[in-house]
Amino acid sequence: MEKKFESLTIFEFQRRFPDDNACMAYLADKKWEEGYACPKCGNTKYCKGAKEHSRQCTKCNHICTPTSSTLFHKVKFPLLKAFYIVYYVSTNKKGISSTELSRKLGLGQKTCWLFKQKVMVAMRSSGKSLMQGKVEVDETSVGGQEEGVVGRKNGKKQLVVFAIERKGKGVSRLYGKVIENASSQQLGSFMKQVIDENAEVKTDEWSGYSPLKKHFKHLTQVKSGKKGENFPDMHRAIMGFKGWLRGMHHHAEHLQAYIDEYTYRFNRNFMSVGLFENLLIRMVEGQPHTYRMIIS
Ligand SMILES: [Zn+2]
Repeated sequence: MEKKFESLTIFEFQRRFPDDNACMAYLADKKWEEGYACPKCGNTKYCKGAKEHSRQCTKCNHICTPTSSTLFHKVKFPLLKAFYIVYYVSTNKKGISSTELSRKLGLGQKTCWLFKQKVMVAMRSSGKSLMQGKVEVDETSVGGQEEGVVGRKNGKKQLVVFAIERKGKGVSRLYGKVIENASSQQLGSFMKQVIDENAEVKTDEWSGYSPLKKHFKHLTQVKSGKKGENFPDMHRAIMGFKGWLRGMHHHAEHLQAYIDEYTYRFNRNFMSVGLFENLLIRMVEGQPHTYRMIIS
């Protein structure tokens, strides 16, 4: 068995992925780990395609490459550099800006920015396991003058709802979503997406949460207190996110993507499985994202 890429050092990374071919072989391995099936006709027999690592269906002649229909689809620069971006994004605790990636890899800043957005798509919550036990929910506004977000275009504040799952003395998971308003419809749609209906949910006394007691049977509302003193962990989690956002000089327009990036890293801080490989696998499983999908 291959060793998991747990806390892979840059030297190990370079040994494991010396060139584009090694990256392609890795993707082929992951993509067809459970066997091959033609995406067009479902046939399970194939022969080698013209390009290395590609597979051609023996029935309809459709050709698949290891990158097709993954988040690596149509990457227009060397695959090895794409792997470096995944590596840097997954191993830098504080994240890495597209400007820094551009400098390190000799790629255009825009190219790095765009590919990083794809990595961030892979970082989105899979929604497979809902938060359970003690959960807290709160909304906060992000952006605007007092946050000092550099380079913002409109300085508009955006509302974000956060949920934390508590375990022992700490916070085991964090999720967040940009919402249009704090109506129970908006709050509820996020909460149902990430929280189990049997969880002990705690919110402040905002009226938008009250109707959600129908769905969340153990939802209780308590006074928020001055500066959220009754929600110290939530307060700390939000401060942590805002501090990170400020430090990265992010543009607030892509706030949801940054929330996904931050929470992905936060939620895997204590995970034993290597972040890097986890992210690579998610990239292989992810659907292709076009430039248009990303900027819209
Ligand atoms: Zn076929």
